[in-house]
Amino acid sequence: MIIDGKKEAQILQSEIKKEISDLKIKINKTPCLTVILIGDFAPSLIYVKNKEKSAKEVGITSQIIKYSNNVSEKDVLNKISELNKNKNISGILVQLPLPDHINKEKIVNAIDPSKDVDGFHPVNVGNLSSGYKSTVPCTPLGCLLLIKKIEKNLSGKHAVIIGRSNLNGKPMAQLLLKENCTITMVHSKTKNLQKECLKADILVAAAGVANLIKKDWVKEDTIVIDVGINKVGEKIVGDVSFEELRNKVKAITPVPGGVGPMTIACLLKNTLECFKAHQL
Ligand code: NAD
Repeated sequence: MIIDGKKEAQILQSEIKKEISDLKIKINKTPCLTVILIGDFAPSLIYVKNKEKSAKEVGITSQIIKYSNNVSEKDVLNKISELNKNKNISGILVQLPLPDHINKEKIVNAIDPSKDVDGFHPVNVGNLSSGYKSTVPCTPLGCLLLIKKIEKNLSGKHAVIIGRSNLNGKPMAQLLLKENCTITMVHSKTKNLQKECLKADILVAAAGVANLIKKDWVKEDTIVIDVGINKVGEKIVGDVSFEELRNKVKAITPVPGGVGPMTIACLLKNTLECFKAHQL
C-alpha cells in the first residue's frame, strides 16, 4: 500500500480550516503565523512560500519578515522579543538554515515556547521527552499521523529510526516511545545497518542519503516512512529505494507526496494549537 501523504494532509487541513472558522464565529479572532526569513537561500524561499499559501488556505494569517543575509543577530533577537510580546501573533517560525554569523541556539531559545510552532525550543523538547504536553516538531508529528492511519495501536511494535537529528530522529523516537514502541535508533556510525533495519515493524528513514534502504533490508510487514529529500540529477528521491520496496512492504510513503505535505499540515496544526493556548 502506498500512503498518500497529499491526501492525508488535505484531510488534516480541512479539519484545521473548519476549527478556525468555528473559532472565528465564537471569538472573532484567527491565528497569525509570523515567519522570519533571512537571506535568499532558494529552498528556504520555496518552503516559506508554500507555508504562506497553505496558511492562507486554512484561514491563518501569515506575515513574512524578510532580512538580508547580513542582518545582525541582535536585530533578529530584538524582533523575536517584539513578536513574543505581541498578543496578535500566535506562532513564530525562524526559517533554517541561518547565516553563519547568527547563532541558531540563541535564536531558537529566544522564541516564547508557547509560540514555538516548530517545537524546537528546549522547553518543548524537554516536555516531549518527559511525556508532557508540548509542541512537537512538524515532520515527526506528520510521520506519526501517517503511521497511525495504517496501524492504530503501535504498542509493542519495533520501530527503527534512521537518523538522530533534533529535527527528525530524536523527536520521532520520543513520539514512538510514547506509543509504547520498542525503539532502535541508528545513525551514520551504526555498524550493520541492514541487520538493524530487518528488525523493524516500523521503519522511519531520515538520513538524507538517496536510496539508502534496499529491498532486502526490510520485512514484508514493515511500515516504511521516508523522510529523506535528496536531489539526484533533476529528480527528488527519498532515502528508500521506493520502486524496489513498494510491492514488498505493508505500507510505504512516496517522495515526493508522502511526508512533505504532512509537515506543512502539521505546522498549521501547531499554529492553531498555539493560538488556542493563548486565546481560550
Ligand atoms: P541531518 O543531516 O541533521 O541528520 C541526518 C542523520 O542521518 C544523522 O543523524 C546521521 O547520523 C544519519 N545518517 C547520515 N548518513 C547515514 C547513513 N549512511 N546511515 C545511517 N544514518 C545516516 O538531517 P535532517 O535534518 O534530520 O534531515 C534528514 C533528511 O530529511 C534530509 O534529506 C532532509 O532534507 C529531509 N527532511 C525532510 C522533511 C520533510 O518534510 N519531508 C523535513 C525535514 C527534513
